[in-house]
Amino acid sequence: MSTSSGVDRVDGDRLAQLRPQLEGARAWSAGLVDALVDALDGEDEAQLILLNPIAWASARGFETDETIALFLHATRVGLLQIHWNVRCGGCGELVATPGGLNQLEHDFYCDSCARSRPTTLDESVEVSFTISPALRSIRFHEPESLSLADYFFDFRFSRNISIRGIDRDLIPFLREQKEVLTWLEAGGEQRFELDLPEIGWVVGNPRTMIAIEGEATTQVRELSLDYGARAFLPRTTLAPGPVRLTLRNPTDARVRVFLYFTPIVTFFDYLPHLSGHRLLNDSEFRRCLGTDVVRPGTGIPIKDNTLLFTDLRGSTEMYERIGDSAAFALVSQHFETMAQTITRCGGVVVKTMGDAIMASFNRPVDATRAALAILDDHAPKQPDEDRLEPKLGVHRGACIVVNQNDMVDYFGQTVNIAARVQGAAGSDELCVTEAVWREVREDPSLRKALEHADALALEPERVQLKGVREAVTVYRIRPGG
Ligand SMILES: [Zn+2]
Repeated sequence: MSTSSGVDRVDGDRLAQLRPQLEGARAWSAGLVDALVDALDGEDEAQLILLNPIAWASARGFETDETIALFLHATRVGLLQIHWNVRCGGCGELVATPGGLNQLEHDFYCDSCARSRPTTLDESVEVSFTISPALRSIRFHEPESLSLADYFFDFRFSRNISIRGIDRDLIPFLREQKEVLTWLEAGGEQRFELDLPEIGWVVGNPRTMIAIEGEATTQVRELSLDYGARAFLPRTTLAPGPVRLTLRNPTDARVRVFLYFTPIVTFFDYLPHLSGHRLLNDSEFRRCLGTDVVRPGTGIPIKDNTLLFTDLRGSTEMYERIGDSAAFALVSQHFETMAQTITRCGGVVVKTMGDAIMASFNRPVDATRAALAILDDHAPKQPDEDRLEPKLGVHRGACIVVNQNDMVDYFGQTVNIAARVQGAAGSDELCVTEAVWREVREDPSLRKALEHADALALEPERVQLKGVREAVTVYRIRPGG
């Protein structure tokens, strides 16, 4: 493919080879593949990294889930690369931008904030996409060689942040509030004239803390800061007004310096983006990149995940009655139907255990919708002694993502409780915990299904679950019961 200037951007032969694989992966809405291919040939290289498929879809009028699927398939065939970026909630920096899920660590250290925080898949991991270097080489493929402006304003910070209270996105704010942007050579020193505008702070990377307090002055102050292993020191307090700032780097490595002024303690709101949590519960992710799992021995936390457990009553007796082969065929058919329902409702099957299924969802409302649909599918239409009666349970809460035999699995007390809550359900019954019921009972999208299941006014019930010290409050949903 050539541009008007005659410069090849995308490798046309490679694109011609990969494009049919993307087009043939599944059915796509008209114009969607074309839009991606056109975007990959765009002029602005900064628009070919940190691609947020949700923002991308919304800007072009495409459907979100399908666009996420497109980006995943484009990654699978080699047009894009995926990055599980770890974002610091204190400063908005992308502290680590590993490629795969398998490179995530349990916690991370932010240089600018000088502290460690846990890597949570729902709150600190944002997944983005970058054009594959095999398709088109761009300067952002080598971050170390980027200019300072490219590095700090197009690569280093999340693009998905707006600053609470001042109605500004983070990156334009950083550009406006820049005080120092420079390389400081090993053993070097540089001087800057600053005018501290008002009460606030000068902060940045490497960690710096100049608090600005008190009555403004016109007197020029001298301030020297030394770069240690991780920060400029000392921390200091000055009144608003002119400052002659000397930055020194006594270390033997040159360092990028970006200091900016902020009048407020920044709290962030996040624009819609693809969290690691959402992606893990995306069935297309499993299909396209399912071999990418967390490293064995590593557990990555999720603050709030929803789990659905199902079991089938009657299968042991049925094995006796109709024999293994016929019973296996019947149970397999049930699994297939349930798995389709789970996927359709936005979840993924984590694993099957005997006659049981464990599934994971982003939201309680989706897990509950799937459970009600499973009950509805299995509702007795006529007397049938080979009928399998589902027993279901849904619970939500914090858990960790682990690697179990090279598959994504979940671990923790939330998982144990979800399994036990399923165990407390009777035949053709769904048990949900208080934490689930609180969110789903008023959800307009579930109202019809709950009404149909005669479940609009349920009474709470305290049950003692094996292995759980405190009694747990559950709600029993029993359509037709
Ligand atoms: Zn930070």
